[in-house]
Amino acid sequence: ATEHFDAIIVGAGPAGSAAAYIMAKAGLNVVLIERGEFPGAKNIFGGVIYRKQLEDIIPEFWKEAPLERQVIEQRLWILSDQAGVTIGHRNEAFKEPNNCWTGLRVKFDQWFATKAEQAGSLNIYETVVIDVIREGEKVVGVRTDRDQGDLYANVVVVADGVNSLLGKALGVHREWSPNEVSLAVKEVIAMPKEKIMDRFNLEGNEGVTTEFVGNTMGMAGLGFLYTNQDTLSFGVGVMVSDLKKKRVKPYELLEGVKQHPMLRRLLQGGETKEYAGHLIPEGGFHSIPPLSGDGWMICGDAAQLVNFVHREGTNLAMTSGRFAAEAIIEAHETGDFSRVGLAGYDRRVKESFVHKDLKKYKGLHHFLSDSDPSLTFDKLPKALNEAAYQMLLVDGVPKSDKQKIAMRGVTQAAGGLMNMVKLGAQGWRAM
Ligand code: FAD
Repeated sequence: ATEHFDAIIVGAGPAGSAAAYIMAKAGLNVVLIERGEFPGAKNIFGGVIYRKQLEDIIPEFWKEAPLERQVIEQRLWILSDQAGVTIGHRNEAFKEPNNCWTGLRVKFDQWFATKAEQAGSLNIYETVVIDVIREGEKVVGVRTDRDQGDLYANVVVVADGVNSLLGKALGVHREWSPNEVSLAVKEVIAMPKEKIMDRFNLEGNEGVTTEFVGNTMGMAGLGFLYTNQDTLSFGVGVMVSDLKKKRVKPYELLEGVKQHPMLRRLLQGGETKEYAGHLIPEGGFHSIPPLSGDGWMICGDAAQLVNFVHREGTNLAMTSGRFAAEAIIEAHETGDFSRVGLAGYDRRVKESFVHKDLKKYKGLHHFLSDSDPSLTFDKLPKALNEAAYQMLLVDGVPKSDKQKIAMRGVTQAAGGLMNMVKLGAQGWRAM
């Protein structure tokens, strides 16, 4: 007879492993299916892993999880071609309590999925889930690409990431339009530990994150440079619609960005070890699909739960995975796996920071897609850098004149004072 599970979880990313771990620990009979040769094999992120949401699942995980460096400083650089205005925050307080770490998904995802396996989850790798199986309206299992690969369960937890094949099968996930997703390309660059520590002003296990805007050929995007133990994670993500419009290949963009004087010096001498690309859902609050139905739930990137303003995704994925698991454990007690019986998941998401944070930025997607990216991501960063340059250049021009020149430059870049005020107001509202 075909084995019947309490839950099938599709995808061993942060969302799926969190769900599998919690349910297995509660004694439920769960199976976690991953298409990769092993979890994390093809997964990439920036990436920063946050303490709070994983600690809610595995207390003191940092004592055993494969983490790279403890982030004590976060920098934001606004770049023009040759210059940069830098802001940031460094604080010893980020060490106690820990705030976040840099990490590499190849190691992290394997560790997390193994924790679920040790808790009792049946993990199956190199297996692609190709469809859901329904009985009437209710989802009762999944079809895999294996021979006799149908599996049945009370609930299917869909955690298969941004392209969510299963979300499409459920009818809650359409093809993303190019202005709802970014394409990120990333390199992992090997560099001796001592060099990293010297260049980034670090001691011991400390780490730094740098994000940068501007210098992306006028496309809406963001770059990142993170310190790992003996590698750097370096990449840039831009809206797919802009890449199409500009006919730029992502690796050309990355190569160009590397030449920026502030980045070139930090990267030089390093050796690229890996290169990968991945999509990031950026449709925001309005793109979140229904989160559950009869016999199914959807979590993490598959449900668009990404806060790209704060580059938070793994923590939202893990939290949604935890909420899904908790709701299934409740439903297990009542025996009701219908939409109504699983509604505890939607309620938890709605009451949490996941929903509230995404709601806070609900206008941002429209702001970005309605405004001209060459203005926000090219002209304004350039004007800001020029203003900073003029204010700091000691050339005998009185400061009051300089201030006027600087203001004029920024206003002109924005297309006039009215436009600047409008843009400022729209941006403020969106944030
Ligand atoms: P995923 O991590 O995508 O996992 C989905 C899993 O499902 C994968 O293992 C995949 O192989 C598997 N799968 C897919 N389809 C199938 C199928 N049909 N059958 C079986 N298995 C399947 N977040 C942060 O918190 N911090 C960061 O610094 C950060 N930086 C980022 C930088 C980049 C360049 C990118 C692309 C993302 C970044 N994110 C970051 C976002 C974060 O990576 C995601 O939000 C997070 O990984 C989502 O987790 P998930 O479990 O929902 O999906």
